[in-house]
Amino acid sequence: MSIAVIIVAAGRGTRAGGDVPKQWQTLAGQPVLAHTLAAFAGMDVVLAIHPEDRARAEALGTGARLVEGGPTRDASVRAALEALAGSAVTQVLIHDGARPLPSPALIGRLVAALDDHPGAAPALAVTDALWRGEAGLVAGTQDRSGLYRAQTPQAFRFEAILAAHRAHPGGAADDVEVARAAGLDVAIVEGDEQNLKLTFPGDFARGEAILKGRMMDVRLGNGYDVHAFCDGDHVWLCGVKVTHSKGLLGHSDADVGMHALTDAIYGALAEGDIGRHFPPSDPQWKGAASHIFLAHAVHLMTKRGYRLANCDVTLVCERPKIGPHAIAMQGELARIMGVDVGLVSVKATTSERLGFTGREEGIAAIATAALVRA
Ligand code: MG
Repeated sequence: MSIAVIIVAAGRGTRAGGDVPKQWQTLAGQPVLAHTLAAFAGMDVVLAIHPEDRARAEALGTGARLVEGGPTRDASVRAALEALAGSAVTQVLIHDGARPLPSPALIGRLVAALDDHPGAAPALAVTDALWRGEAGLVAGTQDRSGLYRAQTPQAFRFEAILAAHRAHPGGAADDVEVARAAGLDVAIVEGDEQNLKLTFPGDFARGEAILKGRMMDVRLGNGYDVHAFCDGDHVWLCGVKVTHSKGLLGHSDADVGMHALTDAIYGALAEGDIGRHFPPSDPQWKGAASHIFLAHAVHLMTKRGYRLANCDVTLVCERPKIGPHAIAMQGELARIMGVDVGLVSVKATTSERLGFTGREEGIAAIATAALVRA
């Protein structure tokens, strides 16, 4: 499975005011399109632009492939689809450049829906009463049942939407219309109120308020764990096997550092601790490797729409010495979490021979994790 994203940004619409098309106007200090592209960071993106905007698009410094769009929206989409034809792409998300705030959760819902349908698109049920108006007066009411407000990205199996566009005479409002003209079923997926389309000047103020809210959406969690020493010749700490004159007692690998970090992530999400998700009373988790717990916490974090900003683990023990292994531990934790190693800190301290760690009865670990809106 290989997913590509087409962002349509060739329009000249200036209803939002100003003398440049709305996708090139400034939102929270950056062009609208820079925000839109950031929402699909790490994905394979084709950006359909107006020929006059090539210099602007290159200045974004994006890894997106630039394709010159046509005179209409569907001509631009067609040009981008043709640029992907013959590649390994199996699924495509088609998105309006003037919608800068699609969430990872929304993108996830769309991709999941393609398992069962050739097309899927986000929409919100109409909840306001609908009127017909004439000359400034209410002329009647309109039944709103079964009515939706359509959004993008609209998701399709690639070959099906390519064939649908090739067969379409043109003039479609969006890609769902093209897909339906070709007889494809398009599932309605729950949309997102924040996934707004910037059309009028007031939409920019709303978009900035949403972005500001996302930037301030930081969640912190802490974790603490202790395991006692027992007979043995090695300990597992932060995913690294360290030779020692003792082992650590506990279910699984007794990786006290990884347990503390896992609990910090659960804590940041207000999702309890390892014991809630992997009850020690359940025989299937007896002896389970700790990386399963950490990977689960990270999965939950992603599902909830957050990413790791950074984390910090402190191991408390007199021995073994942690320093020589700290880099390997950071690398192993980063690998399990699928994050850059620069976001992961592992350090150690002794307790000056005081208390249970000072008497070398066991190892303690504390961890902090900071999560931000993805
Ligand atoms: Mg533990």
